[in-house]
Amino acid sequence: AYRGGILDMGAAHLHPLNLALGLARAAQAAGVEIYERSAVHQITEGSPATVQTDGGRVTADHVILACNGYLGGLNRKVAAKVMPINNFIVATEPLGDRVKDVLPRDVAVADSKFVVNYFRLSHDGRLLFGGGESYGYRFPSDLAAKARKPMGQVFPALRDVKIDYAWGGTLAITMKRLPFLARVAPNILSASGYSGHGVGTAIHAGQLMARAIQGDGDGFDTMSALPTPTFPGGGALRSPLLALAMSWFSLRDRLGI
Ligand SMILES: Cc1cc2nc3c(=O)[nH]c(=O)nc-3n(C[C@H](O)[C@H](O)[C@H](O)COP(=O)(O)OP(=O)(O)OC[C@H]3O[C@@H](n4cnc5c(N)ncnc54)[C@H](O)[C@@H]3O)c2cc1C
Repeated sequence: AYRGGILDMGAAHLHPLNLALGLARAAQAAGVEIYERSAVHQITEGSPATVQTDGGRVTADHVILACNGYLGGLNRKVAAKVMPINNFIVATEPLGDRVKDVLPRDVAVADSKFVVNYFRLSHDGRLLFGGGESYGYRFPSDLAAKARKPMGQVFPALRDVKIDYAWGGTLAITMKRLPFLARVAPNILSASGYSGHGVGTAIHAGQLMARAIQGDGDGFDTMSALPTPTFPGGGALRSPLLALAMSWFSLRDRLGI
């Protein structure tokens, strides 16, 4: 499948759910109150701003938009620049001795295809393989099939391996594949569109937003100065046009051009 690659021993891989749980614990220990299952439906700008959920309303001196691919229509300015995309992962059964033929070292791999394939081993010797995309908020019915297909292309020997788990989620991309940081109102900051690299960069963006709220906006302002083109068709038309463009680029992947 590949002619060559680059090995970066300065990079690392991690268990993202554990990272999220650890961050939540650290935030709680610092006095943060977390309200789960409280989707925000509307934000009224002002000083303070008002954030509306089903169960209640919060007034806030500062608001941070950190919904990434799940933002929907909550803020039109951001929606025009940031596109949701669904991506899928499968976990094979534990591979036992076959691991050495699949990934002999404990490294994480990402390829350079436009619709990227990425894979690594779990602590119990499963191959975690991510790939395949879909657009819009509806998920395909057979998630395992979405990632099994590219896995079979990269690892033909695993075509018949048992898939124990399959899942997916929504991330967000920008036209230039650089994150979109913006001050959408004087006291409302937004960061999203990490284009598949958010595990590290979302945390960096969080740090920049925290500093900006404390009065040190240098890092945030530098990132928000990056030019971020609007998707053709803005918030309304971007999905069908993107699906068309992605089909073209994934055809180029298949043709190897
Ligand atoms: C299958 C898959 C594989 C990925 N693999 C990688 C990878 O290998 N490496 C990498 O760097 N990145 C990867 N990503 C991307 C990465 O997960 C994201 O970039 C990252 O999670 C972004 O972090 P975030 O905190 O901005 O958004 P999220 O992690 O998406 O969190 C957004 C949060 O906002 C909440 N929310 C959304 N809307 C509302 C609302 N209206 N009201 C209240 N709360 C709301 C959601 O419930 C969620 O908790 C992957 C993504 C997917 C889906």
